[in-house]
Amino acid sequence: MKQVLLHACCAVCSAYPINYLKEEGYEPIVYFYNPNIYPHEEHQRRLNELIEYSKKENFKLIIEDYSPKDFTNISIGLETEPEKGKRCEKCYFLRLHKTAEKAQELNLEYFTTTLSISPHKISKKIFQAAKEAENLCNVKFLPYDFKKRDGFKITQQIAKKNNMYRQTYCGCIFSI
Ligand code: SF4
Repeated sequence: MKQVLLHACCAVCSAYPINYLKEEGYEPIVYFYNPNIYPHEEHQRRLNELIEYSKKENFKLIIEDYSPKDFTNISIGLETEPEKGKRCEKCYFLRLHKTAEKAQELNLEYFTTTLSISPHKISKKIFQAAKEAENLCNVKFLPYDFKKRDGFKITQQIAKKNNMYRQTYCGCIFSI
Protein backbone atom coordinates (compact mmCIF):
# COMPACT_ATOMS: atom_id res chain seq x y z
CA MET A 1 0.00 0.00 0.00
CA LYS A 2 1.31 3.48 -0.90
CA GLN A 3 1.81 5.72 2.10
CA VAL A 4 0.86 9.40 2.12
CA LEU A 5 1.62 12.03 4.73
CA LEU A 6 -1.68 13.72 5.49
CA HIS A 7 -1.35 17.13 7.10
CA ALA A 8 -4.25 17.40 9.56
CA CYS A 9 -5.59 20.57 11.12
CA CYS A 10 -7.94 18.76 13.53
CA ALA A 11 -9.79 15.47 14.06
CA VAL A 12 -13.05 16.70 12.53
CA CYS A 13 -11.45 17.69 9.22
CA SER A 14 -9.39 14.47 9.15
CA ALA A 15 -12.17 11.92 9.41
CA TYR A 16 -13.41 12.01 5.82
CA PRO A 17 -9.97 12.45 4.15
CA ILE A 18 -8.61 9.43 6.04
CA ASN A 19 -11.47 7.25 4.77
CA TYR A 20 -11.17 8.71 1.29
CA LEU A 21 -7.43 8.06 1.03
CA LYS A 22 -7.88 4.49 2.23
CA GLU A 23 -10.52 3.93 -0.45
CA GLU A 24 -8.06 5.30 -3.00
CA GLY A 25 -5.51 2.68 -1.93
CA TYR A 26 -3.28 4.80 0.31
CA GLU A 27 -2.21 4.32 3.89
CA PRO A 28 -2.49 7.79 5.44
CA ILE A 29 0.08 8.77 8.05
CA VAL A 30 -1.41 11.74 9.82
CA TYR A 31 0.80 14.73 10.60
CA PHE A 32 -0.15 17.43 13.09
CA TYR A 33 1.75 20.69 12.67
CA ASN A 34 -0.39 23.74 13.35
CA PRO A 35 1.54 26.59 14.99
CA ASN A 36 -1.23 28.95 13.86
CA ILE A 37 -3.63 27.70 16.54
CA TYR A 38 -4.14 30.10 19.42
CA PRO A 39 -4.13 29.81 22.39
CA HIS A 40 -2.03 26.83 23.47
CA GLU A 41 -5.02 25.25 25.26
CA GLU A 42 -6.99 25.25 22.00
CA HIS A 43 -4.04 23.66 20.19
CA GLN A 44 -3.92 20.96 22.86
CA ARG A 45 -7.67 20.42 22.72
CA ARG A 46 -7.67 19.85 18.95
CA LEU A 47 -4.61 17.64 19.23
CA ASN A 48 -6.09 15.54 22.05
CA GLU A 49 -9.18 14.90 19.96
CA LEU A 50 -6.99 13.73 17.09
CA ILE A 51 -4.97 11.46 19.40
CA GLU A 52 -8.20 9.87 20.64
CA TYR A 53 -9.41 9.38 17.08
CA SER A 54 -6.09 7.81 16.02
CA LYS A 55 -6.49 5.24 18.80
CA LYS A 56 -10.06 4.54 17.77
CA GLU A 57 -9.33 4.28 14.04
CA ASN A 58 -5.84 2.86 14.40
CA PHE A 59 -3.88 5.22 12.16
CA LYS A 60 -0.32 6.48 12.60
CA LEU A 61 -0.01 10.00 13.96
CA ILE A 62 3.09 12.19 13.99
CA ILE A 63 2.95 15.24 16.25
CA GLU A 64 5.15 18.33 16.09
CA ASP A 65 5.74 20.44 19.19
CA TYR A 66 3.70 23.61 19.53
CA SER A 67 5.79 26.42 18.00
CA PRO A 68 3.61 29.58 17.83
CA LYS A 69 6.62 31.71 16.84
CA ASP A 70 6.61 30.00 13.43
CA PHE A 71 3.20 31.50 12.79
CA THR A 72 3.94 34.88 14.39
CA ASN A 73 6.92 35.29 12.05
CA ILE A 74 4.87 34.78 8.89
CA SER A 75 1.88 36.85 10.00
CA ILE A 76 3.76 40.06 10.81
CA GLY A 77 2.21 42.91 8.83
CA LEU A 78 -0.75 40.75 7.80
CA GLU A 79 -2.71 40.95 11.05
CA THR A 80 -5.65 42.82 9.53
CA GLU A 81 -5.95 40.67 6.42
CA PRO A 82 -9.40 39.08 6.01
CA GLU A 83 -9.85 35.34 6.15
CA LYS A 84 -8.93 33.74 2.78
CA GLY A 85 -6.47 36.61 2.22
CA LYS A 86 -2.67 36.91 2.16
CA ARG A 87 -2.13 35.81 5.78
CA CYS A 88 -3.98 32.58 5.05
CA GLU A 89 -1.84 31.94 1.96
CA LYS A 90 1.30 32.23 4.12
CA CYS A 91 -0.31 30.05 6.77
CA TYR A 92 -1.05 27.31 4.22
CA PHE A 93 2.50 27.44 2.89
CA LEU A 94 4.04 27.34 6.37
CA ARG A 95 2.19 24.16 7.25
CA LEU A 96 2.46 22.46 3.86
CA HIS A 97 6.15 23.19 3.43
CA LYS A 98 6.83 21.61 6.80
CA THR A 99 4.67 18.63 5.78
CA ALA A 100 6.58 18.22 2.52
CA GLU A 101 9.87 18.37 4.43
CA LYS A 102 8.64 15.75 6.86
CA ALA A 103 7.49 13.49 4.02
CA GLN A 104 10.93 13.84 2.45
CA GLU A 105 12.62 13.02 5.76
CA LEU A 106 10.46 9.89 6.09
CA ASN A 107 11.17 8.87 2.48
CA LEU A 108 7.49 9.10 1.59
CA GLU A 109 6.53 9.82 -1.98
CA TYR A 110 3.32 11.76 -1.33
CA PHE A 111 1.75 14.38 0.90
CA THR A 112 -1.63 16.05 1.06
CA THR A 113 -3.79 18.06 3.48
CA THR A 114 -7.17 18.12 5.18
CA LEU A 115 -7.32 21.91 4.68
CA SER A 116 -9.18 21.55 1.38
CA ILE A 117 -12.23 20.13 3.15
CA SER A 118 -13.21 23.48 4.62
CA PRO A 119 -15.83 25.50 2.74
CA HIS A 120 -14.17 28.57 4.31
CA LYS A 121 -10.95 27.98 2.38
CA ILE A 122 -10.17 28.33 -1.32
CA SER A 123 -8.73 25.03 -2.48
CA LYS A 124 -6.92 26.67 -5.40
CA LYS A 125 -4.85 28.76 -2.95
CA ILE A 126 -4.08 25.69 -0.85
CA PHE A 127 -2.94 23.81 -3.95
CA GLN A 128 -0.73 26.74 -5.01
CA ALA A 129 0.99 26.73 -1.62
CA ALA A 130 1.39 22.95 -1.81
CA LYS A 131 2.88 23.19 -5.29
CA GLU A 132 5.49 25.65 -4.00
CA ALA A 133 6.32 23.24 -1.18
CA GLU A 134 6.46 20.36 -3.65
CA ASN A 135 8.97 22.26 -5.79
CA LEU A 136 11.24 22.74 -2.78
CA CYS A 137 11.16 19.10 -1.67
CA ASN A 138 11.38 15.85 -3.55
CA VAL A 139 7.79 14.73 -2.82
CA LYS A 140 4.53 14.85 -4.73
CA PHE A 141 1.41 16.66 -3.58
CA LEU A 142 -1.90 14.86 -4.08
CA PRO A 143 -4.38 17.64 -4.95
CA TYR A 144 -7.50 16.14 -3.40
CA ASP A 145 -10.28 18.65 -2.98
CA PHE A 146 -11.93 16.94 -0.03
CA LYS A 147 -14.88 19.35 0.13
CA LYS A 148 -16.17 17.87 -3.13
CA ARG A 149 -18.75 15.07 -3.11
CA ASP A 150 -20.22 16.35 0.19
CA GLY A 151 -16.90 15.80 1.98
CA PHE A 152 -17.50 18.54 4.53
CA LYS A 153 -21.00 17.30 5.32
CA ILE A 154 -19.81 13.71 5.70
CA THR A 155 -16.88 14.65 7.93
CA GLN A 156 -19.24 16.63 10.19
CA GLN A 157 -21.51 13.58 10.44
CA ILE A 158 -18.57 11.37 11.46
CA ALA A 159 -17.52 14.00 14.03
CA LYS A 160 -21.02 14.09 15.48
CA LYS A 161 -21.22 10.32 15.67
CA ASN A 162 -17.88 10.22 17.49
CA ASN A 163 -18.82 13.10 19.76
CA MET A 164 -15.78 15.11 18.67
CA TYR A 165 -14.97 18.62 19.82
CA ARG A 166 -15.86 21.04 17.01
CA GLN A 167 -14.13 24.41 17.11
CA THR A 168 -15.90 27.63 16.20
CA TYR A 169 -12.98 29.49 14.58
CA CYS A 170 -10.24 28.66 12.08
CA GLY A 171 -7.30 28.78 14.48
CA CYS A 172 -5.22 31.93 14.73
CA ILE A 173 -5.81 34.82 17.13
CA PHE A 174 -7.09 36.96 14.24
CA SER A 175 -9.81 34.46 13.36
CA ILE A 176 -11.36 34.30 16.84
S1 SF4 B 1 -7.61 32.38 9.44
FE1 SF4 B 1 -6.97 30.23 9.50
S2 SF4 B 1 -5.83 29.84 7.60
FE2 SF4 B 1 -5.99 32.08 7.91
S3 SF4 B 1 -4.11 32.64 8.98
FE3 SF4 B 1 -5.65 32.28 10.54
S4 SF4 B 1 -5.42 30.12 11.11
FE4 SF4 B 1 -4.32 30.42 9.18
